[in-house]
Amino acid sequence: MNAYSTLKGVHDIFPPDVFIWNKIERTAKDLFYIFGYDEIKIPIIESTEIFTRSIGQSTDIVGKEMYTFTDKGGRGITLRPEGTASVARCYVENALYRCTPPQKYYYIGPMFRYERPQKGRLRQFYQIGAECFASSTPETDAEMLFMINEFFNKLQVPELRLEINSIGCKVCRPEYNAALTMFFSQASLCGDCKTRLVKNPLRILDCKVDRCVELRKGAPVITDFLCEPCKTHHEGLRELLKGRGIAFHDNPLIVRGLDYYTRTTFEVTTEHLGAQKAVAAGGRYDNLVEEFGGPATPAIGFAIGMERLAELMRLFDPYPNSPFFYFAALGEQASAIALSLAIRLMDKNISSICADWQIPLKGHMKRANKLNAKYVIMLGADEIQKGKATWKQMSNAAQGEIDVNNVGEFIALSEQWLTRQGSND
Ligand code: ATP
Ligand code: MG
Repeated sequence: MNAYSTLKGVHDIFPPDVFIWNKIERTAKDLFYIFGYDEIKIPIIESTEIFTRSIGQSTDIVGKEMYTFTDKGGRGITLRPEGTASVARCYVENALYRCTPPQKYYYIGPMFRYERPQKGRLRQFYQIGAECFASSTPETDAEMLFMINEFFNKLQVPELRLEINSIGCKVCRPEYNAALTMFFSQASLCGDCKTRLVKNPLRILDCKVDRCVELRKGAPVITDFLCEPCKTHHEGLRELLKGRGIAFHDNPLIVRGLDYYTRTTFEVTTEHLGAQKAVAAGGRYDNLVEEFGGPATPAIGFAIGMERLAELMRLFDPYPNSPFFYFAALGEQASAIALSLAIRLMDKNISSICADWQIPLKGHMKRANKLNAKYVIMLGADEIQKGKATWKQMSNAAQGEIDVNNVGEFIALSEQWLTRQGSND
């Protein structure tokens, strides 16, 4: 291995993936704006306490995964493992609760967790997250899930599954925890879950060890323990989702790996990424702002894992940045015509590549193929005299003649292609 390499679990992001990343970011920014969210830029480093207090001592994130160090002034610093705690801290510190509610923010940036690196599980990974403060209604939850649904629709990510649950509140959860403790008291749980049994039995439901997955079959479900207000909230959300035609699945095991959640929790999962199924996750956290010293403020948020989403998109569209037209000019004069055409097409947002005219035609075809260009435009010296070129569609080898003086014909060709795509030809 080269002596100069990234740290374990830390990746560079470069073309063609970066094209997908930018598309994800653009889509999020445009859509979230329409839903009333403004960007918030939170620091990458925070006092360790910000996370230990909010995420919870007994969680995997705080217990095992934090990048914590002491700075030169002897302060305990942590590279942020997630965004919600920082946004809530910022909300209180800057008295954002004084703004007209609901206050809605989104962030995009890297997070750090000392995890065992594997596919879809990195030590530096990116999240896009959003938080909505000062509204406690099921409508707010439904709106957030609607926005998430729209986001994935816009990116054309197929076959996602939305799973929802309610993990109750301070009133009803203790009784459920007691029932879980009783249920698991004699079970031969894994080492971590033995600790969880004492500290936070709810977390046993999130354990990924096979033995514990088996042992939790038949465990009491939270839905049977919800107090009336939590039940009404959850039922309200389910009805709103049904009313809007958003498909969801009830999953009483969605308990989330952080302590601040109350009531609604959810995950968006896929079967296409192997073991790391969650692409997005979130939930309501009605007590967090108060815990940071702010006024009692209900809130809900979510975060999307960008690496997992980008990988998923790449599976369904392996050539995200392929050019529309590849101009294979044979000769200097043809090359000048190709350039002027390409510039006019790029002006219409139609991506075009002008290749070096000194390459033989065979080389052009090879390159166009590798780039997954939709059309190759061959401009031979003889044809150019007649003002003509030959187009070839790479997917089916169809070909024809085109007028090089009429950029409209090129635009028509690209529109034809898009229409066929739209009709799943
Ligand atoms: P998991 O159960 O997969 O560990 P989590 O509950 O720790 O996820 P959250 O803290 O809710 O995850 O983060 C939201 C999303 O961020 C996840 O659904 C996932 O897409 C992504 N994510 C979390 N941890 C990682 C990681 N180590 N590497 C890459 N993506 C991650
Ligand atoms: Mg995790």
